[in-house]
Amino acid sequence: MCTDKVETSAHIVSQVAEELYLKCIRCGKCLSVCPIYRETRIETMSPRGKVALYRAVGEDDLPEISPVYASKFYTCLMCEACREVCPSGVELDVIMNQVRADLAHCGLLPDSLQRLSDIIVSAGNISDEDNARRLGWTENMASKPVGLDYDGQVEMVYFVGCVSSLFPASYHIPQSLAGILEKAGVSYALMGGEERCCGYPLLLNGESELALEMAQHNVEAARVTGAPQVVMSCPSCYHMWKHTYPEILGDDVLDGLEILHETEMLAGLARAGRLRFKPWPVTVTYHDSCDLGRKSDIFDAPREVLRAIPELELVEMADHRAHSLCCGGGGNLETYNRELAQALPLRRLRQAEEAGASTIVVSCQQCKRTLAGAARREKIRIRVIDLAEVVAEQIEEEPHA
Ligand code: SF4
Ligand code: SF4
Repeated sequence: MCTDKVETSAHIVSQVAEELYLKCIRCGKCLSVCPIYRETRIETMSPRGKVALYRAVGEDDLPEISPVYASKFYTCLMCEACREVCPSGVELDVIMNQVRADLAHCGLLPDSLQRLSDIIVSAGNISDEDNARRLGWTENMASKPVGLDYDGQVEMVYFVGCVSSLFPASYHIPQSLAGILEKAGVSYALMGGEERCCGYPLLLNGESELALEMAQHNVEAARVTGAPQVVMSCPSCYHMWKHTYPEILGDDVLDGLEILHETEMLAGLARAGRLRFKPWPVTVTYHDSCDLGRKSDIFDAPREVLRAIPELELVEMADHRAHSLCCGGGGNLETYNRELAQALPLRRLRQAEEAGASTIVVSCQQCKRTLAGAARREKIRIRVIDLAEVVAEQIEEEPHA
């Protein structure tokens, strides 16, 4: 507890609370879509409960902001499924960002999340490794990616992201994307140790000033390459670059730079005839990640790529597109409450089975990690694969003129 700072927190909350919390008519529609509430059945961890707690502070009905109060707000995937269905337009994401910033400000960031912030600030990445190790994924490739030794003007810079760069289980995703770029004849650059965490985990912790420093560094480092496009395979990095960087660094910060997610880039290459595919007679379903789908409005590009693969059958899960179900990997929940986060993907795997799919295609290394991990733990026979890996497997040799 930090009494003086708690006053500051309550003050900040009460300044903005009314216009946000008064919209809630307590209908409970959000409860039916919240993965946390569906799993725990605890009202104070539900979206409606969070709004009520926020209101209680705004109206001075809570004597103090305690770690228990804080725990309710850190138990959230920041998936925005609740915002999507709310008939009154309650913006829980705005409330969450405000409250988490207040909690961090008054010293109520839980130890595990504080450790995560400290690691990112000191190492420049989420895994506390020497940042030069970001190129570890290139080491066991048959030939080094040409993006390592780019020379002169390149079409794009590939921002690999912490998970793909530093977690061996995800190495195959950047390896696949680099291979695709080379087969499609796209010139590109890699930033290696000059790349840092995009800042998203810091923002989720409520530490926007620290996120801003990461953002500033990354934009400057990308500009050094001279590439007019920045492509990323991580939806969180993409959302940060495309939507948050202009908010925190200014509208013109990306002038002259086009920000693309791998799904948009791959759809563009397929449309332009720079990718051709071998048949793949498999029934697949596509999992929309929260940061790419609901938050960034990219639903069609990955499906366009899948539909371009001959003999592939695409089926949809019960919850898809804007109503997709979070895999459990969002909101820093895995760092804060691993047990709860690991319980969440099972419902998603069951939905894929019910849809008749043998394969779940994702376009997020975090979704791949959580869904594949749950499938292993639960002994569910379903393959989880990133779209870049699908394309790399199915691409015809020498497709471009
Ligand atoms: S759906 Fe919206 S209005 Fe209804 S309880 Fe949830 S936050 Fe409140
Ligand atoms: S953002 Fe997601 S996890 Fe958080 S309260 Fe809303 S639906 Fe639940």
